[in-house]
Amino acid sequence: MSTYEYECKQCGKTFEKVTTLADHEKHAKPACPKCGSHDVRQVPAAFQAVTAKKT
Ligand SMILES: [Zn+2]
Repeated sequence: MSTYEYECKQCGKTFEKVTTLADHEKHAKPACPKCGSHDVRQVPAAFQAVTAKKT
C-alpha cells in the first residue's frame, strides 16, 4: 500500500489517503474529510518531499 496526498479543490484542505495500487489505478478519488467533496487533486510526489523537510 502507498500513501497519496490530496488537496481539496473546494476548501483547500490537504490530506493523505492510504490506498492500494489497484485502488489508485481505478482512479478512485477520496472524499475530502473536511467538506466531503470528491473534487480533489493528487499532490505531486515532489511537493510531498518539500513539505516533509519542513517538519
Ligand atoms: Zn474540502
